[in-house]
Amino acid sequence: MKKIMLLGATGSIGTQTIDVIVNHPELFELTGLAAGKNIKVLEEILAKVKVKYVCTTNRQEQLELKYPEIVFLTGEEGLLELARNQDYDLLVNALVGFVGLKPTLEAMASNHDVALANKETLVVAGEYINAAKHEYEVELFPIDSEHSAIFQALRGNDPKTVRRLLITASGGSFRDKSREELEDVTLADALKHPNWAMGAKITIDSATMMNKGLEVIEAHWLFDVDYDDIEVVLHKQSIVHSMVEYQDYSIMAQLGNADMRIPIQYAMHYPHRVPLKNSDPLDFSKTMNLTFEPIDFERFPLLRLAFETGKKGGNLPAVMNAANEHANQAFQDGKIGFLEIEEMVFSAVAAANHIEKPTLDQLIEADGWARQFVANLIEAKK
Ligand code: NDP
Ligand code: MG
Repeated sequence: MKKIMLLGATGSIGTQTIDVIVNHPELFELTGLAAGKNIKVLEEILAKVKVKYVCTTNRQEQLELKYPEIVFLTGEEGLLELARNQDYDLLVNALVGFVGLKPTLEAMASNHDVALANKETLVVAGEYINAAKHEYEVELFPIDSEHSAIFQALRGNDPKTVRRLLITASGGSFRDKSREELEDVTLADALKHPNWAMGAKITIDSATMMNKGLEVIEAHWLFDVDYDDIEVVLHKQSIVHSMVEYQDYSIMAQLGNADMRIPIQYAMHYPHRVPLKNSDPLDFSKTMNLTFEPIDFERFPLLRLAFETGKKGGNLPAVMNAANEHANQAFQDGKIGFLEIEEMVFSAVAAANHIEKPTLDQLIEADGWARQFVANLIEAKK
């Protein structure tokens, strides 16, 4: 029986993780969970599963009265307290954004393995995460579907014989639109992802291709592969979740339906595979076309920026990530247009003071600086 601590329980990955836990009571037990502000979904979860600890952004007195046996925590300190709790085996980090970084480090430093959906953690501080992994001898299991696919395609092969990683990209909501057509797209348009139902931030990141850029940096840190040996391939069907090419030009791929519970339960129960409940297998009784196209970096400039920023390294990926988080939220709030997201991310990276070997505090500062920089740009527009 594996004891799970789940951060970001009320989100897209979080609720699917709950589904995996509920479907496999013989394998998993939930010790505690963290929600943010979505108390309605939290209540639905608490009606289904028993937990010892709950963290929310703000204090929930009604819930405290309703569940006197649960220990309630709040805010960022509450997330850290859950991370360092000793009554669990695996942290599932399904938080969105930079807020996921400190709890990941805290969990590792208190000797816990981590299943990571929160890619922003690796983008900001991949070097520190890898150092912690080494120092505390803990494991890091990717949940992101591309990285889970690569993780699976690497099994049984010598990592030294890898030639390149091929990360597939669906292209997001606007993949068939020209740059001119992007001028006046709306939030509702951006939130219609063709293949996956996900949280708002990552769905918009998919439309700008920032998501794929973040994933390139995530892959670099997870699998210790140079940026020049990572290639992004447009694959509109989202059936091939990514591939590894070896020196003999053999390619190993992982295929399946677009269902995040597959990588979630693989990360949670590695190296074992367990049945996926309430789902169907890929249907080969119908004709299925799988297409692969090269990426047009002119069309998706944020992906190019991510490669460049990843290569330069230091504090710049943290700047790019924070500028994107702020601009993405501003687009969700109707404060800026879709194309202004990339404009602002480019401006922040260009204006940042590059520190090649930042301390963790300098990475946190870079995050704060970039948010303020974008906030100023938005303010200046008024
Ligand atoms: P969602 O927005 O659906 O969920 C985010 C979760 O984090 C919610 O539970 C939210 O709480 C919580 N949260 C956000 N901010 C805070 C905060 N300051 N303090 C505490 N909790 C907070 O995101 P997704 O599930 O889509 O994504 C989660 C991560 O997984 C992201 O890094 C994303 O890139 C990655 N990922 C997601 C995929 C998907 O299919 N969704 C696929 C691959 C990767 P609340 O809602 O209660 O406020
Ligand atoms: Mg992904």
